[in-house]
Amino acid sequence: MTFRSIPEEEISRFIHWAHEAGRLGLMMCSSGNLSHRFDDGSMLISATGSWLGSLNADQISHIRIDDGTILNGVRPSGEIAMHRTIMEQRPDIDTILHFQSPAATTLACLPEETNYNVIIEVPVYIGAVGRVPFIMPCSQMLADAVGHEIKRCSLVQMQNHGQVVCGKGYESTVQKAVFFELASTIILKSGKRALIIPEEGVEQLKQYNASDHSC
Ligand SMILES: [Zn+2]
Repeated sequence: MTFRSIPEEEISRFIHWAHEAGRLGLMMCSSGNLSHRFDDGSMLISATGSWLGSLNADQISHIRIDDGTILNGVRPSGEIAMHRTIMEQRPDIDTILHFQSPAATTLACLPEETNYNVIIEVPVYIGAVGRVPFIMPCSQMLADAVGHEIKRCSLVQMQNHGQVVCGKGYESTVQKAVFFELASTIILKSGKRALIIPEEGVEQLKQYNASDHSC
């Protein structure tokens, strides 16, 4: 597989973080997908049907973001419209992870809104959390709904589906997903009785991460 204009070490880095996302339990089997943008207006995205936890170089699609042209002959994830829309809406980020971790996805299935501010990492690293109703996966309609929410936050809950998170760099993006799953687990394990960080504390904590608190 050749990736025009993408250095070998960038392919290795993409694979490393796909494996990390799997190892950290952020998705099972073929659910979830990862993308990463480059300065030339292209992005890498995991291939349709691929398992992030065991991804290899033949399962990475190279795409031109503005028109969706496939540059290396590998079919991208079915959620390509969502990834392209987020990349267009958020020029400040370069990495997107669509995941489906158990506790967070459980909360995405509940009818009521959830306040996720039960651990300091939520306001510090994630900020506000968006939410969209059930919309068919892989559709442009879902891409548009998520694209609208992601303008004001970096993580969106998709009802009956999973989560999408974006950030600058692989590490910070994956970290947001892990902390979100931890907060969701605490909320569920406490029977939804976990105390919420007081509002003034949340506001102060958001300032801790001034470089990436677009929420
Ligand atoms: Zn999906």
